[in-house]
Amino acid sequence: MEQKNSPIEAARQTLIQLMQRKLPPTPDNFRSVYDEIMGIQSVDKSAELGKTLEKVLNQAGKQKPKYIAIAQAINPLIEKGDWPKVEEQLTKLFPSAAAGVEEANWSVVIRNLLKQLEVSHKGVTLSRKKEGLSKVLVNFASDSDVLAQKIQSLISSWGLSGTADAVTSLDAAIEVPAVTTGNPPQANNDSPQQSISNTSTSVLNSTQWRDMLLRAFELVIIPNLEAVPEIHQKAVNLLSRMRKASNEQSLIICAADLKSILLSLEMQRDQQSRIHESLLQLLRLVLSSMGEMVQTEDQWLYAQTTVISDIVSKPVSLNTLYDAESSLKELVYKQSQIKPALTEAKDTLKKMVTTFVDRLVEMTESTSDYHDKIEAYQQKIATTDNIGELNVLLNSILDDTRSIGLTVQRTRDEFMNSQKQAIAAEKRIQELTAELDYIGQVAHQDYLTGALNRRGMDEAIEREFNRADRHNTTLCIAMLDIDHFKKLNDTLGHATGDEALTHLVKVLKDVLRTTDVLARYGGEEFIIILPDTPQDEAVKVITRVQRELTKNFFMYNNERVLITFSAGVAERALNEAPEALIPRADAALYKAKHSGRNQVVGADILPNVVV
Ligand code: GH3
Ligand code: MG
Ligand code: MG
Repeated sequence: MEQKNSPIEAARQTLIQLMQRKLPPTPDNFRSVYDEIMGIQSVDKSAELGKTLEKVLNQAGKQKPKYIAIAQAINPLIEKGDWPKVEEQLTKLFPSAAAGVEEANWSVVIRNLLKQLEVSHKGVTLSRKKEGLSKVLVNFASDSDVLAQKIQSLISSWGLSGTADAVTSLDAAIEVPAVTTGNPPQANNDSPQQSISNTSTSVLNSTQWRDMLLRAFELVIIPNLEAVPEIHQKAVNLLSRMRKASNEQSLIICAADLKSILLSLEMQRDQQSRIHESLLQLLRLVLSSMGEMVQTEDQWLYAQTTVISDIVSKPVSLNTLYDAESSLKELVYKQSQIKPALTEAKDTLKKMVTTFVDRLVEMTESTSDYHDKIEAYQQKIATTDNIGELNVLLNSILDDTRSIGLTVQRTRDEFMNSQKQAIAAEKRIQELTAELDYIGQVAHQDYLTGALNRRGMDEAIEREFNRADRHNTTLCIAMLDIDHFKKLNDTLGHATGDEALTHLVKVLKDVLRTTDVLARYGGEEFIIILPDTPQDEAVKVITRVQRELTKNFFMYNNERVLITFSAGVAERALNEAPEALIPRADAALYKAKHSGRNQVVGADILPNVVV
């Protein structure tokens, strides 16, 4: 007997019985025959689960009728073992899956309701508001989510007061929809007015606002961030979190991230427009120097460059750029044609100078000859008393002086000519130098390193401080000074010092983020603006540059030269002016120098730093 009641034996007997009774060995058949043999009543867990779910859903259905429908559907599905459908029904329980109806955020709804009850809306008295509200409360008390939505619609309809939509929206908010009341389909016969009211209601629906924001974020903002992969990724992650956000807490986090992404986007766009403007500026410079160059050579070429300069001096569109491109192509072609002429002109000039020098030599020779001859004639004249001989002498003198006179006259003409050219050239050089000075004045970049110069830095500081004020964000200023740079100059030479500066700027640009701004403050000192960055973060960024410099050596004659720098970093206090912030960064730099160099020191944090 023991043997018979053991689970293994019972299972064996169950299989035999199933065969004898010609029953298929399904789990249900197996369980019932097994129970029979063992004399027990085993629990059907699926059925139990079905019953429990039904009970809970019916209970919940007292508040939300939609749960009752699910309760009714779920048990037969569990009995059938139709798990995909069970899953489908259960998914409907989540607010995001419920078509058109969001889970209510009651704290928001009530806050809004209280506020809007107090605000006066043209044409809507307080008693009318209360009347509408009580109708909504009566009609939709059975489903809290729908109730919240209807209260929102009602509030929005007050905002539309005075317009035709207001009436219809109000009606739509108060009316019980056909589906809930079970009205026959003809009740939905949309009159034009009815469809207007539906549209207004739905426009005011927060789900639609949410969808519009999500679409704008996905289709406009994210594609605009493609050039900055890390922010792009951040935006993609945020989009998926915004889609899932279902409570106030997660919305607050999303809003903060959205703010930071919008700031990055603005900076990105700003940077792009600056690149755009710098490119145009560069083109203008090229054109103006090209114009100057060709002005004397070919009037046509000069006219062409003027045409292009005109095109790019106005706001640029794609068409104007195409025009500029085709004019430039023509210019390049024409230039290739005049090049031989230019070479020829240069050769002629060279020959002219050579001839001039020859003439000069000739003249010196002739004039010294002249002196010699005059001296000889003077002696002959002094010693002779033969008139005939004197006559011959005089004729010789006349001949000689005439030829000398001719040489001198010719040389004088050439002299005058060259002098004229030299004066013209000098004038041109003066003009060009003045122009170079002007370009130097308007340039924003330091010629040696390519970092911003002081002018560029001043503009960047103004721009970034204004931006920080607008967005209520913080920023940091870092000041860098190369350690013992004088020694490097003294041992390796000034030119190598220049190369070291360029190397440092390259490493800095590699490590800094695209939104950081690097400027040469003077000599071997640099300033970095780190927007939207707290001090500890900025210290980390600059320390990263230091580490990178120890890996990325400056090479001199195939030898590694280690450059180090000291830095001071200061975070901007509330409304702090650059004139106050820069000295604080400088003081921190001083500390870094005095505590042994090759260090990054943060300034003392002021109490009212923006957070
Ligand atoms: P410390 O660590 O205290 O900063 O020492 P230092 O030698 O770097 O400082 P100091 O201010 O005494 O010397 C800075 C040197 O930097 C002096 C100057 O000749 C050199 N310098 C400034 N501008 C340039 C430049 O454009 N090119 C080169 N090669 N050297 C420069
Ligand atoms: Mg210095
Ligand atoms: Mg130094």
